[in-house]
Amino acid sequence: MATLPEGPSGARLQNLVNGAWVDAEAGSALPVPDPATGVPLAHVPLSAPAEVDRAVRAARAALPGWSSTPVPERARLLRRVQEILEGQATEIVDGIVAEHGKIREDAAGSFRRGLEALEFAQSAPTFLQGRILSGVAAGIDVETHREPVGVVAAITPFNFPAMIPLWMVPLAVVCGNTVVLKPSERVPMTAQRIVRAFQSARTPPGVVNLVHGGAGTAHELLVHPGVDAVAFVGSAPVARTIYATAAGQGKRVLALAGAKNHLIVLPDADLARATRAIMSSAYGSAGERCLAGSVVVAVEPVADRLVPALAAEVRRLVVGAGTQPETEMGPLIRAEARDRVEGFVRLGLAEGAVLAAEGTAPEAAPGGGYFLRPVLLDHVRPEMKVAQEEIFGPVLAVIRAPDLDEAISIANRSRFGNAAAIFTSSGEAARRFRGRIEAGMLGINLGVPAPPAYFPFVGWKGSVFGDLAATGTEAALFYTRPKTVLSRWP
Ligand code: NAD
Repeated sequence: MATLPEGPSGARLQNLVNGAWVDAEAGSALPVPDPATGVPLAHVPLSAPAEVDRAVRAARAALPGWSSTPVPERARLLRRVQEILEGQATEIVDGIVAEHGKIREDAAGSFRRGLEALEFAQSAPTFLQGRILSGVAAGIDVETHREPVGVVAAITPFNFPAMIPLWMVPLAVVCGNTVVLKPSERVPMTAQRIVRAFQSARTPPGVVNLVHGGAGTAHELLVHPGVDAVAFVGSAPVARTIYATAAGQGKRVLALAGAKNHLIVLPDADLARATRAIMSSAYGSAGERCLAGSVVVAVEPVADRLVPALAAEVRRLVVGAGTQPETEMGPLIRAEARDRVEGFVRLGLAEGAVLAAEGTAPEAAPGGGYFLRPVLLDHVRPEMKVAQEEIFGPVLAVIRAPDLDEAISIANRSRFGNAAAIFTSSGEAARRFRGRIEAGMLGINLGVPAPPAYFPFVGWKGSVFGDLAATGTEAALFYTRPKTVLSRWP
């Protein structure tokens, strides 16, 4: 087996195909810079079609053996993977901080969420049970089994380097599928560690494969006839393309997409708690989260108390490298992401928003360090671009609304529907919000409503293309198909 180069050398990463680490033959590779310094940590190859083909063929060849492996045995494999990953927690969290830039606390929290998904997958002997009805007609019984879909392509985004691969790979595998993982080319190293844990846990060759690359490599998976299902998480335009392309090829697809999450604050809310929760929701992980609060809808007359409280917090937020213990917000993933977010702030001001606060950020080292000042925009109107588009950065917009019904209506006019939250001390208001809001994940007096892995993680409307969910038993339905048997024994 070839050695696995990784670490601070800027070495070129390898693919895992059929149980062996192999050099990608592709000539081109991208640097993977540390977002806090710009210094390359590794180089990620942009794998060519032939390499995708080899990985898919390996996954197909492994499928008959793996899908007939007893379910408890598959679950035990995941237990070994979990032990290995937990044993490497420090280096995995450090690796997330290094390649993504988020602070240690956020990296550790998201890794824990990933482990939770791995843990849930181990209950497969329970959730994969079928159904039976004895006697649907004279002497006839009916039973439904849940069988694997086949070869699953898992295509993941940059913002959760461990958690999202861990949503997909363990569950797909425990359901009896084989997998080709194509992680984000911007955070390829954590995925590499996860796949290596599967290898160390004695996963049979070909069951879990990893192919590095970008859009071109992902596209090859979407059109490969050997791929049966595509699990995707990423931005809305790419999710739409993924869904249209792969579904057009007859594949099963679940594509989780972008977000624009509204946080409604009523005058009766506990303002100190709400302020803390909103700050963490909007500026945690530099706003690079699909559950990030992006728009506060302040129900009057709360805004004149809430905005100064938020502004004071924005001004004192400590921005810096995720490796520094005092840092509260790290850099953005790339210079392009930083420039794009800055462009949104300029656009918002041009559209008539008021700059309520701007924080500070360290001077970047020459050639790197994609730091950005956190921004709070007030007097935003619902039709403005900053209120409509996913900014995916540390920018929070405040819209003032006359009452709760209008606040809900503003949130519902968004084309996205990933998450929403309300801050109130009124059970009646919370209940009205819960019933009327058009979003998949709701927070009541909390700002990041991330469901645990045994509940469904999925948005509504433009935040998802496909059905079911990324986690929980709904996800197990995505990774299996029913087989219904009618039997009569004369
Ligand atoms: P992205 O869409 O740029 O990339 C996601 C993946 O798709 C990467 O692996 C990338 O290589 C691949 N890709 C990019 N362009 C492609 C193309 N044209 N064809 C095929 N594949 C392509 O997303 P990102 O910037 O890495 O991640 C951030 C986005 O993900 C945000 O929009 C965020 O809201 C979203 N996200 C959503 C959820 C959710 O649960 N809904 C969770 C996390 C992130």
